[in-house]
Amino acid sequence: MPTLFSKIIAREIPADIVYEDEMCLAFRDINPQAPVHVLLIPKQEIPKLADAAAPDQALLGHMMLAAGKVARQLGVGDAFRLVINNGAEAGQTVFHLHLHILAGRPLHWPPG
Ligand code: AMP
Repeated sequence: MPTLFSKIIAREIPADIVYEDEMCLAFRDINPQAPVHVLLIPKQEIPKLADAAAPDQALLGHMMLAAGKVARQLGVGDAFRLVINNGAEAGQTVFHLHLHILAGRPLHWPPG
């Protein structure tokens, strides 16, 4: 089921895109929770992490490497946090897999 993130990939709705390659796209979160808050999404429609399977292994690995690349590109390569909310009860609101890249302020632990 396509979500608004598919529309961002298709450039049907605007976004502040900071990175793109053949497999994924990264853009700034519209409601940032940190000075740097970027969403990294696969171009392939996977609703949530738990829906990914063995054939998606290379894509998921690619996304982890891309997240590091995006963080470096934005000048926060030494201190950033990756978050994946999986499922509504875990806070997921958009059902197109995405990695939150958060940085630019102290990030406390445990998260809320
Ligand atoms: P989650 O709650 O993990 O599903 O994260 C969804 C994120 O998407 C939230 O942090 C929203 O602020 C963000 N978001 C929703 N709509 C847009 C949009 N049009 N452009 C950028 N970020 C968005």
